[in-house]
Amino acid sequence: MRFIDSHCHLDFSEFDEDRARCIANARSLGVTHLVVPGISLAQSNNLLTFTKQYPSTYISAGLHPYFLEQHQEQHIDELGDLIAANHDSFVAVGECGLDRSIGELEKQRSLFEAQIALANEFELPLIVHHRQSHDLIAASFKRCPPKFGGVIHAFSGSSQVGETYIKAGFKLGVGGTITYARAQKTQQALQHVGIEHLLLETDAPSMPLCGYQGQRNTTERIPNVFLALAALLQRQDYEALSEQLYLNCLAFLRK
Ligand SMILES: [Zn+2]
Repeated sequence: MRFIDSHCHLDFSEFDEDRARCIANARSLGVTHLVVPGISLAQSNNLLTFTKQYPSTYISAGLHPYFLEQHQEQHIDELGDLIAANHDSFVAVGECGLDRSIGELEKQRSLFEAQIALANEFELPLIVHHRQSHDLIAASFKRCPPKFGGVIHAFSGSSQVGETYIKAGFKLGVGGTITYARAQKTQQALQHVGIEHLLLETDAPSMPLCGYQGQRNTTERIPNVFLALAALLQRQDYEALSEQLYLNCLAFLRK
């Protein structure tokens, strides 16, 4: 079986001690590639060096709402310049999005819609972060429709919400969340929408799987996420299922 971790932050300092070992371990488990998202202008720039050092990584460029205080209006133009100069290196725009647990929703909205416009300009998919914000994201998509789809990272929500994203050209990122009993609504949504719309991810070092709470999450847990999804979908044909998920990710990356 082969896998791609469609969302992990392996460049974070949590991996400074053992990054190469994590990637090698994941590789031995069939994880051929990792997607490492941009979170700020400076870090997106740094990812260009990172991906040269770790050639099995795909990188994106974006301004994550968690780091809102660092982002300035001119960073959008600078992000555009960075993508224009390195168009072959960046596979997506993001991680961008809207998060109700963070303030300044108007600043968030303006940065998010500007990044949708960048994705459209450079013909790239989007990596979208959401938290209690499906309604706000829908409003932004209406004002500024993404033309090249993307992924709703760590999707949680009803099948109705999932289908709205799928109609807008998005895939749904499936991570450790589904291993928790409380994620019933999301589990039902994933059973409903069709596996051709799903991508595997860890969000390492965040989003630990059930049983690993309080520990650093790592990209080596992709097979565990896969097995949880297979159980949820009542599939035992692991080869066919993993291959479909692999091809879904290549389609998202347009590789
Ligand atoms: Zn993330």
